[in-house]
Amino acid sequence: MAFEFKTIIEPFRIKTVEPIRQTTPAQREAAIRAAHYNVFQLRAEDVLIDLLTDSGTGAMSVYQWAGMMRGDESYAGARSFYTFQAVVQEITSFKHVIPTHQGRAAEHILTQATVTDTSIVPNNTHFDTTRANIEMRRGLALNLPIPEGHEPATLHPFKGNMDLAALARTLETQREHIPFVMITVTNNSEGGQPVSMANIRGASELCRKHGVPFLIDACRFAENAWFIKMREPGYADKTPMEIAQEMFRLADGCTMSAKKDGMANIGGFLALNDDALALRCRNALVVTEGFPTYGGLAGYDLEAIAVGLKEALDEDYLRYRIRTVEYLSERMTAAGIPTVRPAGGHALYLDAKSWLSHIPQSQYPGWALSNALFVVGGVRACEIGSVMFGLQPDGTEKFSDLELVRLAFPRRVYTQSHMDYVCEVLLYLNTVATKIRGIRIVEQPPVLRHFTAKFEPVGGVLIEA
Ligand SMILES: *Cc1c(COP(=O)(O)O)cnc(C)c1O
Repeated sequence: MAFEFKTIIEPFRIKTVEPIRQTTPAQREAAIRAAHYNVFQLRAEDVLIDLLTDSGTGAMSVYQWAGMMRGDESYAGARSFYTFQAVVQEITSFKHVIPTHQGRAAEHILTQATVTDTSIVPNNTHFDTTRANIEMRRGLALNLPIPEGHEPATLHPFKGNMDLAALARTLETQREHIPFVMITVTNNSEGGQPVSMANIRGASELCRKHGVPFLIDACRFAENAWFIKMREPGYADKTPMEIAQEMFRLADGCTMSAKKDGMANIGGFLALNDDALALRCRNALVVTEGFPTYGGLAGYDLEAIAVGLKEALDEDYLRYRIRTVEYLSERMTAAGIPTVRPAGGHALYLDAKSWLSHIPQSQYPGWALSNALFVVGGVRACEIGSVMFGLQPDGTEKFSDLELVRLAFPRRVYTQSHMDYVCEVLLYLNTVATKIRGIRIVEQPPVLRHFTAKFEPVGGVLIEA
């Protein structure tokens, strides 16, 4: 008997609970006012459903906690390192595995060993810490996404792909300036959109032809493997592990934030095949992170990541995770709420510029929406638009192409009823959308202003009565 039930259940049961404090709209109104209308300045305790990020916010499994008790805290040569190394090598097959305290530390160590002021580093789309690390070395971080990546409403199965023709041209004309090429899976800055195996292979072949190292920013490698299984011809019968192994075999190394598909609350690594480069990176690691067998982490962190990397590849988990975002996306589309489509892997992106088209970009529609979402439903999400990117180094303002609000989903933390609640909040906001007011900046720092700037609603209220 094989009846297929429609409901995709959370593939876990709950052993420990963390209470959520219920709040009223009036309490949230007071909290956001005290936070100067900046959700980054809220106390997490005042948030009902926290969708600010999927980074380091996941719930660990009983196997991860059990692994933590086995953690070997020896300074050098700890057993936990060898357990961690074995899992990373099983998945990636890279020769050298260098633990770091999180993803950006792996990027820092890699870029300090490879990037100079004449360097150009192509990527499908650089994540902001990757870009910052390259720019700190005075190199150029070059984004080469396919054009569809920028079009919220255009459907494409692998919207995170790299523009291979543009990469070929760059390699042909700038070869001597390129220390490595990187591909980010999934493409976080373009909406958590996947990259196809064909695209990774194409980039890999171009790099090999020109003798340039090819690296993967692997933060969401398991989610990317799932999209390949679902969408790319020839992969339906392969396991996520087999697909991940094939992806990594096309590359010469990777950087990883274990706060994403490592299913851990902290950690990361750099993995490389090149002996000489690995030696330079390990030498830097000892100065800034720690001894090469722990690299800024406790032994118990290494154990949690070793278990987490495998759990992230579990099919039941991936089906549930990707479906969660897709479900919300379908409900938004049915209600006529504009989002980036198709849904990405780790987050739903609301298109605030289209949704709140009555608010001019000079009054930051995405930021206004993030405030309304919090006051109405206690949901915290993050503007990815002109507040985040608009302020130029010379102090002028340049509005972003897109004004998005990202709802990022922590791994294994929220259930279906939490998602239905989020849906209900968004559907309600749709009924009052035209009454949401714009917002203005009262005070701002010169860089990364979104974290600390102070705001005020235009006309004094967030939503007109
Ligand atoms: C989160 C992230 C990083 C940086 O990792 P941290 O652990 O936050 O330092 C790098 N690249 C991508 C694509 C990411 O999502």
